[in-house]
Amino acid sequence: MLKSTLITARTLPSSSTAMEPLSSTVRMRNLARMKDERFDVLVIGGGVTGAGVAVDAAARGYRVALVEKTDFASGTSSKSTKLVHGGIRYLPNFDFALVREALTERGILLKNAPFLVEPVGFVLPLYKGDRHPVGLPLTTPGGIGLRYVLSIGLWLYDLLAGGRNVQRHRHLSRADVLRMAPTLVQEGLKEGFIYYDAQTHDARLTMALIRTAAQHGADIANYAEVISFVTEQGKVTGAVVRDHIGNQEFTIQARHIINATGIFSEEVESLTGKEPQVSVEPSKGVHLVLSREQIKVDDFAVVLPETDDRRILFIVPWGSRAIFGTTDTGSGDLNHPLATQKDISYLLEHLNRYLSINLTTDDIISAYAGYRPLVRPGRGSKHSPAKLSRTHAVLESPSGLVTIVGGKMTTYRRMAQDTVDVLSRRDGTAPIHPTERLLLYGGTGWPDAQHQLQVKGASLGLSAKTISHLAKSYGAEAAQVLKLIEGDASLAQPLIDDLPYIRAEVVHACRAEMAMTPYDVLARRTSITLEDYYRGMNVVGTVAGLMAKELGWSSERQQALIGEFQAAIGEELAAEATLELPSH
Ligand SMILES: Cc1cc2nc3c(=O)[nH]c(=O)nc-3n(C[C@H](O)[C@H](O)[C@H](O)COP(=O)(O)OP(=O)(O)OC[C@H]3O[C@@H](n4cnc5c(N)ncnc54)[C@H](O)[C@@H]3O)c2cc1C
Repeated sequence: MLKSTLITARTLPSSSTAMEPLSSTVRMRNLARMKDERFDVLVIGGGVTGAGVAVDAAARGYRVALVEKTDFASGTSSKSTKLVHGGIRYLPNFDFALVREALTERGILLKNAPFLVEPVGFVLPLYKGDRHPVGLPLTTPGGIGLRYVLSIGLWLYDLLAGGRNVQRHRHLSRADVLRMAPTLVQEGLKEGFIYYDAQTHDARLTMALIRTAAQHGADIANYAEVISFVTEQGKVTGAVVRDHIGNQEFTIQARHIINATGIFSEEVESLTGKEPQVSVEPSKGVHLVLSREQIKVDDFAVVLPETDDRRILFIVPWGSRAIFGTTDTGSGDLNHPLATQKDISYLLEHLNRYLSINLTTDDIISAYAGYRPLVRPGRGSKHSPAKLSRTHAVLESPSGLVTIVGGKMTTYRRMAQDTVDVLSRRDGTAPIHPTERLLLYGGTGWPDAQHQLQVKGASLGLSAKTISHLAKSYGAEAAQVLKLIEGDASLAQPLIDDLPYIRAEVVHACRAEMAMTPYDVLARRTSITLEDYYRGMNVVGTVAGLMAKELGWSSERQQALIGEFQAAIGEELAAEATLELPSH
């Protein structure tokens, strides 16, 4: 048995050169294969963690299937602060191992996804009267000497990154702070620091992983939900899947089944019929999206050092906008995380405390909410969400189901590696770690490909903003988007005037990224729902029209999907209550 499993894992053809685009036809073919074949590994969940597990397992030569109940990155993996970071706020808790692991992963990601992850400097201002900046649990008498405490912390942060550090932190004079973050309140500002981390686009990172897994031979489908497990002698040997688009149910057989469903891990584990080992405490985090010009956040992110509940808040430049957050409170409907008026008031209050301009709800472009999949230390124990562990756990249930939960987007690769190591041990093979040096899809030939992209994009009449956006979203794969424009010049048209998105991206999303609904395109292949003042409401008809041609929708189907999108955005706006679509 051991020998045969060993052979299966090692000798299956790894189609690492396959560049097959993920079209809806490929989705149907993948589902058909899932019905007919027996896999080595079935991954449940198409967030960053599940996608990372699929990449790791496929790169080790396993025959992999991945199913996602809605769309890739539709859960927490499109709702983050989008930082690839060590987590400066874990230092005061002395979580050095956690910070070191995340800083190592930050360095690996900067190399493996060079087009998607970029360094960013964080300006940390210090004010007279600050007592617990960056969540320091203790303070000095009258706050005297806090500067030195912070300096030691930042020095440690640099040290923990080792040879993979982005850039060393520096002390800043008051004038430097105001030059880099001109809208900060001046009164009481003493000095500051700048330290370095990195940022990405969470949903695009997940998509790059999905495509990397497919490139290595994984069969992948979205809108395919695991609804029960098949067990033999108490062990899971398969999962019953409902295809929400093809309206069919069937069983996928697999030797190993991985539960990578984030906040749904407990629910999915209980489908085995046994008491779940996993205990997840979801904690909601809300962000506001703001105009970069209005709050004058340009090259640097800003850290608001101290909140009433000893948190830190980030203002981060992100594409055409700035993101501000986040909160860390309680639970709710896990399938529909919503920002409420209370969440928004909390954020606005702190923003206005630190900024010299006064922002109101009218200045908010959009708000979004997500749940952190925090691991609860023991079933039933009571902890504040901010104190729950950010580390990950790989748990094997008596049924053989392997659950990976917790962690951060930044550490997805390490989480995946630890998970697949469990499978290697089960199979009696020595663990290998190919993802340490595995370029993600779109990274091949970068940055040379970037130059070609600029030349070709300009010759096709695209703006510098659009070319830069295409480069950061797709890497070398942006050449495929440009090819579409060569075939049909109308696809170069922008979708929305003040955003860099173009029509060709909608077609590309259908042909290569398994977009099945307008929401997939507007919220995850692009971030129009976050960046657009109208959250995509004015453009959903155009997007659905382009998709209808690609996917052969009837006009009824097209209208129904437009309606679903409008209803979802309507629900968000209702929860935010005071936020209306702007009249201008
Ligand atoms: C507010 C906030 C800010 C954050 N900021 C950062 C940050 O800046 N940097 C960072 O590194 N991390 C950050 N994180 C953490 C990070 O976003 C998460 O750790 C990560 O996205 C979790 O990914 P996941 O794949 O485990 O879960 P998810 O993305 O939720 O994926 C799980 C998937 O499983 C699917 N699923 C569930 N049940 C089934 C089923 N039965 N069948 C099939 N599929 C199923 C779901 O639909 C979902 O898509 C933040 C989190 C939050 C909430």
